[in-house]
Formats: sequence, C-alpha cells, structure tokens
Amino acid sequence: MTRSSTLVSCLVDGQWIEPPADRFADVWNPSTGDVIARTPLCAAGLVDQAAQAAMRAWPAWRETPVPDRARIMFRFRELLVSHADDLARTVTLEHGKTLAESRASVQRGVEMVEFACGLPSLLAGEIIENLAPNVDSETVRHPLGVVAGITPFNFPAMVPLWMFPTALVCGNCFILKPSERVPLSSIKLGELLLEAGIPDGIFSIVHGDKICVDAILEHPQIKAVSFVGSTPVARHIYTTGATHGKRVQANGGAKNHIIIMPDADLDMTVQALQNAAFGCAGERCMAGSLAIPVGDVADEFVSRLSASAARMRVGRTDTGADIDMGPLITQQHAERVRAHIDTAARDGAAVALDGRATRVADAPNGFFVGPTIVDHIRPNMRIAAEEVFGPVLSVTRVASLDEALALGERCAYGNGAVIFTQSGRAAREFKHRFNAGMIGINVGVPAPMAWFPFTGWNASFFGDLHIQGREGMMFYTQQRMTMTRWPAPSARDAHDPVWRPGRG
Ligand code: NAD
Repeated sequence: MTRSSTLVSCLVDGQWIEPPADRFADVWNPSTGDVIARTPLCAAGLVDQAAQAAMRAWPAWRETPVPDRARIMFRFRELLVSHADDLARTVTLEHGKTLAESRASVQRGVEMVEFACGLPSLLAGEIIENLAPNVDSETVRHPLGVVAGITPFNFPAMVPLWMFPTALVCGNCFILKPSERVPLSSIKLGELLLEAGIPDGIFSIVHGDKICVDAILEHPQIKAVSFVGSTPVARHIYTTGATHGKRVQANGGAKNHIIIMPDADLDMTVQALQNAAFGCAGERCMAGSLAIPVGDVADEFVSRLSASAARMRVGRTDTGADIDMGPLITQQHAERVRAHIDTAARDGAAVALDGRATRVADAPNGFFVGPTIVDHIRPNMRIAAEEVFGPVLSVTRVASLDEALALGERCAYGNGAVIFTQSGRAAREFKHRFNAGMIGINVGVPAPMAWFPFTGWNASFFGDLHIQGREGMMFYTQQRMTMTRWPAPSARDAHDPVWRPGRG
C-alpha cells in the first residue's frame, strides 16, 4: 500500500484553505488499496467561519437579479461539460465505479445544472386580482439564506449537484459537507464554480464527520439542510435539524424490490436486473436488491441471471479500462458485504453465484467482491430486510402477485420498486399498491431525472419536500403573500383631470 499525505482543502469565503484539524480520514483508491489523500475532519469553528462569510455575502447575492444568478449556472454548465471527463476520472479514482458509470453520473449532474438554469420560470409567483372588491393577492418566492448539503460516498459529483445549483439560483448561499471518503470530486466542482464566477462566500466546502455535521445542524444561521446518506444518519439529521428550527430533506437507505411475473420478457429482465443489482457494484440507493419471481419463472430466471452475471468482468477501474464492475469503497465495507452473504448462507440460503472470493490479478489489494446471487431467501432472514449496499441480489420466491406485494408492506424502506411483466393489469395493480415512492415498470432503476422529485417513502426519506424538480426549488425558497387594496373609483374622481372620463 502506498500512502499519500496530500491534504484536501476547504473552500471558505472564496479562498482554498488548509483548515486546522487534528483528526483526518484516509481517502483510498479502492482499486489498489492505496491511500491517495487525507481529509481533514474539521471542528465547529470552520462551519461558523463559512456561515459568517455567507451571511456577509448574502445581501448582495439575494439582490442579484435571478437571470444573472442563472447566467453563472449557464457558465458552470459549460465548464462542467468541458471538464466532464476529468471529473468522471476523479469520481472513478476515489469511488471505484467504472469510468462509464462515472461519466453517466456526471451527465445526471449536468442535467441538474440545466434544470437550475431554467429556474427563473419556475420561480415566478402567483397573483389573483379582485379576491375581494379592489383587493389583489400575490405570492412571491424568497430565498432562505444560508443552507447546507451533506452528501454520501456513492455519487461523489452527482449528489452534490442534486443540491447546490438549485439552492444557489434560488438566491441562497450554500455550504457543502461532502463525504470524507470522496472529497476530491467536490473540490473539482468548487474550482469550476469559482471559475464560472460565483462570488466569494456564496459557496463553501467544509470537510468532516459527525462533529462537523452536528455543527451545521446546530448553527443558528443555517436555515435548511439537505442530506443524502444512510437511514440512521438521515433520522439523526432530520430530528436534530428540526429541533434547531431548520427545514430538512433527508434521504436514507433502501431495499428495492423487483417483481418478475411469469409473463415477463426474460431477456429484457435479465439484462435490466444485471445492471440494477450489480451496476456501480451495488452501491446505489436505487440498486435492485431483492428479486421476487412469481410462480414457475423462478428457476429459469435465477439460472439465466447467474450465467450472465458470472461473465461480468470485475477489475480495477482507475486505469480507465473497459470493465463491467469495479471495487467497493473500502476494505471494511467489502468485509461487511461478505459477512452479509455468509450470514444468509448460514441461515439456509442457496448461493447461486458467489463473489466472495473474487480476486483481481493486477490489483491484489483492491476492495473487490464479485456479483453474488443468494436464492431461497425467506422473509425473516436478515438479508431480506437490511440494505447490503454491495453487488448482492437476494431472491425470494413467491406464488402470487399478492404475496409479492405483501413483502413490500413488510419492508421498512420505500425508495424504488420494479415489476417486469407484459400484463397491463399486473403493472397497474403493482403501481397502485406497492409501498414505495419510485416505481419502475419494465425499468430496472427508476431513478428520476432532474425534472422530477426523488420521492422516497418510509425510512428512505424524512421530510416533506424532496430533492430535485419543482419540489427542490420549493425546499430552497419561502413564499411571501402580499394583499393589496387601492381605493375604488369615487365621485371625487370626476373633478380630477387624471381620472375624468376622456372625450374620446
Ligand atoms: P452515511 O450515512 O454513512 O454518510 C453520509 C454523510 O453523513 C457523510 O457526509 C458523513 O460524513 C455523514 N455522517 C456519517 N455518520 C454520521 C453521523 N453519525 N452523524 C452525522 N453525520 C454523519 O452514508 P454513506 O455510507 O456515505 O452512503 C451510503 C448510504 O447512502 C446508503 O445507505 C445509501 O442507500 C444512501 N443513499 C441514499 C440515497 C437516496 O437518495 N435515498 C442516495 C445515495 C445514497
């Protein structure tokens, strides 16, 4: 293992600084197991510094005309597109997903910036004339002030882009606290945003762990917090943020169900499920996690998917090689994923495809687990309920659609759910009844694009206004209602030359 001492910078008041810190987190190249940088785990003082700088900059920013704020985002979008490959390589280096997957995630982020460029139309208010005699009523949207975003390791560029472009065009200042495991992509985003012309203090990056996050949650001048990460932390963010009077949108973990009906097109299903379960090495909150074949399709489904997934090329991704699946984020996480498979096997599951012993010849220290399928999972097994966040597909066989829907009712989470079928009736029944917020019909990963909200339910989301789309804009703005009355025309107007009826 090689170890780099490169310290990751923070961005405060338009300056890149090396903040005082006595604790650090290693940033790994998951393909090789090398440490490539160190993230400073900052104390509350840095959050306060960023918040104070934002408060100084905010009065001018909120008065900046909306089209001018959007114009900075147009420039940012152009820079992002021209640096997309470089950014994707950084995502791959620090996260481990394949270069193709990183490029796709950057593209999803670009779409969020494009959405933010169009915000001036969405920000328009509403008016009704004559709500009462001579009384008009209107609402307009105002920014909140300083807002913050706390992001996970699994999409180092895309998830920050879910948040700050929208928040900024709405007229807020934004403090980003990226995952300490993948800080490098955020640094690149910050550099491009400065180049696009964002004024000093409007966008900051602070690094840290719970101490830094709690300082954000408790800071009196931070008005709202967007969070994406695991469910226990999402719950903490929501309750602590709300206790301190903040708006919170907190996205948590998931256990996404995929129902395969007997009439499903199996070619399409196998291909879509291979991507849904093993794409990004399963480190996606929308990953297909529990397959539920209905009736006699189960044997053929499991054997075809196992055969296809066994052919996936698992390897190092940092060289940019054309590969199907990369490593997991850390050695510790890879061990946790293997332990989930061990437990399932001990509990009686049949391991139809086993990735526990996967080794990569030119990367012996990488954090690899190969595609794994555990069949005959019963609903009371641990793996049926818990998020694995690795390339592991569980299979629970059922006899009817009703039984499959009942499994959804038992699930604590509620992010995505998918059905593969050629029956409109089954699809409609599923869409109407399944206990989750994002539904796919013959679509493996129904992750909404920028223009639609990311509508997790249950323990997958805490809050009410979701990230992305119109709801994202609503989260970052507050409405002001103004009621106006002006006097009605009166007899006196007849003597006033301004109001006297004209001759023509
Ligand atoms: P995580 O919850 O460990 O960390 C997320 C963020 O919270 C990081 O910035 C981290 O520094 C901070 N954090 C960690 N522990 C904390 C604590 N005790 N107190 C305060 N802050 C803390 O999540 P992760 O491992 O980085 O990401 C994986 C998880 O994110 C998975 O559960 C995945 O499903 C979820 N996720 C959800 C969505 C969604 O939209 N629902 C999207 C992507 C990822």
